[in-house]
Amino acid sequence: MIKIFIGVFVVASIVANLSWTSEPAHDRPFYGAWGFDVEGQDETTKPGDNFFRFANGSWLDQTTIPADKPSVSLRSQAAARTEVQLHELLEAAAANANHEPKTVEGKVGAYFKAFMDEARIEQLGASPITPALDAVRAATTHEALAGLMGRATSDFEGTIYGITLDVDLKDQTRYAVYITQSGLGLPNREYYLKPDFDAQRKKYQAYVARLLMLASWPEAEARANDIIEFESKVAEASWTKAQDRDLNATYNPLSFNELENIAPGFAWRPFLNGAGLGHIDRIIVAEKSAFPKIAAIYASTSVETLQAWQAFHILDNAAFYLSKQFSDAYFEMHDKVLAGQQEQQVRWKRGVHAVSGGDCPSSGARFDCFGDLGWAVGQLYVAKCFAPTAKAKIQLLVANLTSAYRTRIEKLDWMSEPTKLEAIKKLDTYTVKVGYPDHVRDYSQVVIRDDDAFGNAQRAGAANWAFYLGRLGGPVDRSDWAMTPQTNDAYQGRLRDIVFPAAFLQPPIFDPDADAAINYGAIGAAIGHELTHGFDDEGRKIDAAGTLRDWWAPEDAKTFEARATLLGKQYSGYEPVSGMHINGEQTMGENIADLGGLTLALEAYHASLLGKPAPVIGGFTGDQRVFLGWAQAWRGKAREEIIRRQITRSPYSPPEFRVNGVVRNMDAWYTAFHVRPGDKLYVAPKDRVYIW
Ligand SMILES: [Zn+2]
Repeated sequence: MIKIFIGVFVVASIVANLSWTSEPAHDRPFYGAWGFDVEGQDETTKPGDNFFRFANGSWLDQTTIPADKPSVSLRSQAAARTEVQLHELLEAAAANANHEPKTVEGKVGAYFKAFMDEARIEQLGASPITPALDAVRAATTHEALAGLMGRATSDFEGTIYGITLDVDLKDQTRYAVYITQSGLGLPNREYYLKPDFDAQRKKYQAYVARLLMLASWPEAEARANDIIEFESKVAEASWTKAQDRDLNATYNPLSFNELENIAPGFAWRPFLNGAGLGHIDRIIVAEKSAFPKIAAIYASTSVETLQAWQAFHILDNAAFYLSKQFSDAYFEMHDKVLAGQQEQQVRWKRGVHAVSGGDCPSSGARFDCFGDLGWAVGQLYVAKCFAPTAKAKIQLLVANLTSAYRTRIEKLDWMSEPTKLEAIKKLDTYTVKVGYPDHVRDYSQVVIRDDDAFGNAQRAGAANWAFYLGRLGGPVDRSDWAMTPQTNDAYQGRLRDIVFPAAFLQPPIFDPDADAAINYGAIGAAIGHELTHGFDDEGRKIDAAGTLRDWWAPEDAKTFEARATLLGKQYSGYEPVSGMHINGEQTMGENIADLGGLTLALEAYHASLLGKPAPVIGGFTGDQRVFLGWAQAWRGKAREEIIRRQITRSPYSPPEFRVNGVVRNMDAWYTAFHVRPGDKLYVAPKDRVYIW
């Protein structure tokens, strides 16, 4: 993934206390005899007809999606192994926690203990949320309601404009305040505007009414109707996900006065005050043309509707931490209706999620993938579960992939020499971060109590925002991480860093005991994927200093865009669920990175052979195994609801297309598997897309 908004840690002393366990002892690969699970293959499918199925078909046929999950994959199984490890850590920490602990382990334990104390949570009912709802009732003007929206940064409130603090895209030495469109309770604007989502929208309206009723909000049904109407107007005014990918179009620095002038009708000063940013006079606005429209919608909406809207969003954001009637309603809407998950996760899994973070797409708005004490949990996880020797192995692989990329850039026939020089200059500025950050987050000021699940979440949220506010105006922390160590994912970030959290480095992505070709096809392609993000349709607009600037010769940019468009067209032709095609533009960056990543991985694998022929293992050639490693890394299936949601808003194509959509553009795949004209995935050489 490419992650734009960056989370951080500063300072600390606790890292010195991290002790390492020894390398987990296993001498054979996790999957099969050499790292690939041949049992999961479907040899009756021709590789050229459906390579994803050829590599994964038996597994797909025999695997059922767990009732409490929207999907299943080898990656999600790896994440589940991590979840079990985290659970053990949290149980142990909870057993030792006192009422209001001071240590990192104590705080994590007390948090988990409080979240697991269902009897106490039931007894409290809706009472924890009463002060926040009282504040909404007391906010009887548009100005006061805008002030509450500012609080969305640190508390449970909702907002129609989101605020984030991140590195300035045109000046890497400082942080900037970014404001984006927001305000939708459904996953994406299309849920409001397209008839395909009528059913979900109706259920959402019923959910809005239900939460308002549970909180005894007057005239819940009528207000729910008003709220959907309001959000539908905001949806209409909002930019699409594809539009939002344009880094130049979404970079509009304004002074405070300019902001007020372009979007009158919204009380910007009270709003920024609510976020603790009342003193700020430079704001980077994202969807500039949507801002005045959304402000006008706000101004013309009654206080009564806006109050109900805010009350609902507070309830929606807080429901996860409240009594059963709230958390059940939350599950029904967010996990069942929108993700197709049949059963609610058991409480301990929700507890792990709340404190540690994790699977961002299915989590509530406030988790922002980090969980309430995610960095603290990460310290415990790394100390117990990460083998430091993995670090050196990954760093070596990264060096091989980087060198393969350099070679390929030098050889590119479509790129001019000056652009090549700039590209290589940029490539040389990347830093690689493996396992866990050098610094830990300081949680000493966050009060955590073993009997206050809601309050813990609230105080952790406030501390999180205070942390970001605290570094605004100061130097940029280049050791920053935007994913916790226990996250099963990787990213290339705004600091030109490529980051591989500890939990990502396990099968099917990386297995120290697997055949090298399998690892090149999995972690190698993942490294290549992140490297090429710096040069994809978005990343290529950032130069070697990390600044948003056009450094490409115009001809090169034209060729690149023509090829990217061709790739986009291929993806837009894929129909993962009936009636819904992949959006080739919205997924462009990830598709380019996938194609580039596997191309580089294969090149690096060849280089690693030092001129010797690749061994044949299990009847497969080296190249075949690289492709199988890639396909196995994406082995997985998902419920239709989640695929539909993913298509509307995710930058990723569904796994089958990440595999088939890539290999059919690679000549080596045709040779490796004897793919011929007439095979379903066959693309004539002149129509194949070659980028890197
Ligand atoms: Zn990516």
